[in-house]
Amino acid sequence: MKSRASTLLAAAAGLILLFAVNAAGQAMQYERPVQAAPQEEGIGGSYKTPAVQKPQPRSYWLEVLDVVLMAVAMGISVWVVLRRRSRKWVLALTVACLGYFGFYREGCICPIGSIQNVSVALTDPGYAIPIVVTAVFFLPLLVALFFGRAFCGGVCPLGALQELVLLKPLRVPRRLDRALGLLRYAYLGGAVWLALQPFPVHDFIICRFDPFVGFFRMAGFAHMLYIGAAFLVLGIFVGRPYCRFLCPYGVLLEWVTRLAGRGVSITPDKELDCGLCQESCPYGAIEKMRVVRPKCLYCARCFESCPREGPLARKR
Ligand code: SF4
Ligand code: SF4
Repeated sequence: MKSRASTLLAAAAGLILLFAVNAAGQAMQYERPVQAAPQEEGIGGSYKTPAVQKPQPRSYWLEVLDVVLMAVAMGISVWVVLRRRSRKWVLALTVACLGYFGFYREGCICPIGSIQNVSVALTDPGYAIPIVVTAVFFLPLLVALFFGRAFCGGVCPLGALQELVLLKPLRVPRRLDRALGLLRYAYLGGAVWLALQPFPVHDFIICRFDPFVGFFRMAGFAHMLYIGAAFLVLGIFVGRPYCRFLCPYGVLLEWVTRLAGRGVSITPDKELDCGLCQESCPYGAIEKMRVVRPKCLYCARCFESCPREGPLARKR
């Protein structure tokens, strides 16, 4: 345990050093060429500035602050789920992260889309990937390596939105769940392949087809808003459909979590084998009365059904 903690500390120190070194390269403020171009008032007529200019670039240290906040939120997620074992605290974290990373930051600090940047950076020596994007990509995987999918437990705004709309969870048959889960691999492979293609085939489809970013930005193509709305309506009954059947980053988190030494267990010391938790997981992450950690989304719902610590225990 000590060696794990020191590895995490070393990784954090390394990241801080990298940020500081990288800051030197950020001293000159980045100016988009389009800002020097004639603007609406100068051009006149019915000219409209293209939406592609927005959002404006954020200052480097504010971007670093976002990464720090993401790391802190994941730390809280681990503490709240593994130590406090509290669904209420998870919900509070979910709402806070949805507000900040989702609606305030407009879904713009996103390890899911960064898969594409990292893929291009690994294959094209001429492609410079910002250190912040690299950190956003690796941090949730690093945490998953030790504690499981803490990022999915309310920190990721896409997961948070789906978590909050799940009101009447239905059970997806195990075979169908597994079959639909294969879509994520196809999506991951297709997204990486398209990101690596030269223009004009080159495309970042994970970002272009993000079903929820239109809600976070309160703007977007009508068809994407409809698709996002369809996911949310489906998500009232089927637990987190985007996470389980499409999210390409979820595949990576799942792989890494297989190596994690710690993660959710339904009772802290030993399982009771009473079977009461079996039906409580809306994500199909409890099998044979044990948590399947790579699939566990850190929602803490199963704790509520446990006779040792849920409402049943509190009545005793
Ligand atoms: S599975 Fe993907 S979309 Fe869902 S919470 Fe995890 S990273 Fe976010
Ligand atoms: S096992 Fe299921 S209910 Fe329990 S925390 Fe994981 S995802 Fe949530």
